[in-house]
Amino acid sequence: MADTEAARLTNQPHETRARLRALAMDLSWSWREVRRRPFQMLDIRAWEATRHSPLGTLAATDDDRLKSLAAGAAFMGALDAAEADAGAMPAPHPFIAGQSVAYYCSEYALHESLAQYAGGLGVLAGDHLKQASDLGMPLCAVGLLYGHGYYRQELDEVGRTRVGLPHIDRATLPIQPTGVVIACPIGRRQVHAQVWRMRVGRINLYLLDADLARNRPEDRELTLGLYRGDPLLRLRQQVLLGVGGAMALHALGERPTVHHLNEGHAAFASIELLRRAREANPEGTCDEWLDSVRAQVVFTTHTPVPAGHDRYQHADVLRELGPTTRAAGLTAKALASLGREHSGNAEEPFCMTVLALRTCRACNGVAALHGEVSREMWKDIEWGNQPPVAISSITNGVHVPTWCDPVASAFWRDQCRIDTAANTVAGQGWDRAEQVDRAALWSLRSMLRSRLVQFVRERCSKSALSRGEGAAGALRASQLLRDDALTIGFARRFATYKRAPLIFHDVDRLAAILTSADRPVQIIFAGKAHPRDLGGQAYAQRVFEMTRDPRLEGRVALLEDYDMEIGRLLTSGADLWLNNPIRPMEASGTSGMKPPLAGGMNLSILDGWWPEGFDGRNGWAPSPAPEGADADATDAHDANELYRLLESEIVPMFWDRTGGGLPTEWLDRSAHSAATVPPRFGTVRMLAEYSRVYGILGE
Ligand SMILES: *Cc1c(COP(=O)(O)O)cnc(C)c1O
Repeated sequence: MADTEAARLTNQPHETRARLRALAMDLSWSWREVRRRPFQMLDIRAWEATRHSPLGTLAATDDDRLKSLAAGAAFMGALDAAEADAGAMPAPHPFIAGQSVAYYCSEYALHESLAQYAGGLGVLAGDHLKQASDLGMPLCAVGLLYGHGYYRQELDEVGRTRVGLPHIDRATLPIQPTGVVIACPIGRRQVHAQVWRMRVGRINLYLLDADLARNRPEDRELTLGLYRGDPLLRLRQQVLLGVGGAMALHALGERPTVHHLNEGHAAFASIELLRRAREANPEGTCDEWLDSVRAQVVFTTHTPVPAGHDRYQHADVLRELGPTTRAAGLTAKALASLGREHSGNAEEPFCMTVLALRTCRACNGVAALHGEVSREMWKDIEWGNQPPVAISSITNGVHVPTWCDPVASAFWRDQCRIDTAANTVAGQGWDRAEQVDRAALWSLRSMLRSRLVQFVRERCSKSALSRGEGAAGALRASQLLRDDALTIGFARRFATYKRAPLIFHDVDRLAAILTSADRPVQIIFAGKAHPRDLGGQAYAQRVFEMTRDPRLEGRVALLEDYDMEIGRLLTSGADLWLNNPIRPMEASGTSGMKPPLAGGMNLSILDGWWPEGFDGRNGWAPSPAPEGADADATDAHDANELYRLLESEIVPMFWDRTGGGLPTEWLDRSAHSAATVPPRFGTVRMLAEYSRVYGILGE
């Protein structure tokens, strides 16, 4: 009686709100389900409408609702459990005292409610931070806060991309002002940027925001969106990221011993560090200052695609970066030679990757094959009197607590004592997946697949309605796909080298595979092309058209507006994950590391991480196209290989139910995939390797 009375008296909605707000401000809810649960209980519709935003959902919940929830044991229990979890961080891994890392990246994919990413680079950066938090690594990160994020993709009635640029309300973002405003020299102007802090568990992510009234209108645009605008805007954006990022960290009192440039976008940070080296040692020489910069910088390169390496006119770089260049004691010629492979070649534009290579002490590609390709790509750099930088490789990984679906996590825990939340170097015990009960694994697969099919139907019905296809269109979408068909997933950026429509190379042959009466197969696609990539948009349109092709009988679906939520549902629901880039253009790829966490398998070209991951029994790999084949011949070869594997091995194996109604051989492979991929392609292994390069790990 007294307890209820006390509860009633303390049931003040503002108190509950304050507790929820405190929880929402630490992004560890994005990978620890127990911390999300109270928000889901607030208002499930608002939760869905805000793309699972805790602050957005809280804002949509009124005091009466909070009061009535707080009177119930279920909600208060969930809130208490979430808070208890927030206090229960694992002990940090021992790192060398006094050493710390600053991580620079142009995008961070932390959660679908924060649209600050375009694709794999952002996902990798987000996963890096989450893993650094789990390990208690001394690391902070810096980036830009984009006013409208990347973009929202809608496909019109013929499948053309419509670019939506919604303004993101800062009040619904889990960010706090730091009180620091920097003035970054760009051209002749001082561009001001307010620095926000986002808490990613134990890690601080600092985000620069130039949308301030005191800036000129064109400077306010610098943090409007990701990878938008003309080259000049992009160049200025990169000055803000690199120079401004380094300035912001310094102003905040961060004194990192290592600056990690994740991709060349932030390479101008090196020039700001050079300026500082000169300031600290005015009597020194430029070579000495450069050596001291190199001692602090490490660089990860991310793409073998030439267009992926930013190149600018020298005059533009010199103008926009002028004040920092001069303060760093660099002549125009010296700056130019830092951005050129051959310092004497006046024809060569200024390349951000070359700048990063010339100003770092260590560089890595993101898979073994990508390391090889990168060494070849940059082998002609003239190093002059500087020792050449070796390019090694550190293969990417995924943050298991983020990408392992809660249903799958519970399954592995109950079945095999695999602890996906215990995300430390001690390991999670994935080798035990090999012994998993096959019937139970099949139930898990069936459940995750049905859930995905349901999700696709709902999403596609909504899209049909908003496209103006009326009730008939929505009805058609609601009948797409089947619960039991072998489900193939393909989702990633629709960059052309990833060849989203390759599987439609021979539509009739594919139709025979998909529409078999007793062994049906279906494919679900999702992906955005860059707003300026018309080739990629044409690929999206081609996939869209295939969803309407009568020969394929509704066995192909395309989800609009690919994001992390779709990524999670698709990688856990798909039985088979398809990846068919033009080899060797895929630096690593990470999406294929996700399905094995839920018992799915890969069918992938031997590119990126897959040559390291594939062991002959944990998925499939087409034989490589002949060396030197042209683009058309390569497409034909690769498509033919995909059909051959599907027809002769994959589909028959999935549909062989002679073993007591179960696809026994399929499930053996699936268990083997779970036992072999996650332990090697998680961010735990990846950060252990980076820690060695950073020099923050004792031997
Ligand atoms: C995992 C993931 C990626 C990476 O895809 P790849 O092309 O295979 O590297 C991109 N976007 C999202 C949303 C993801 O979840």
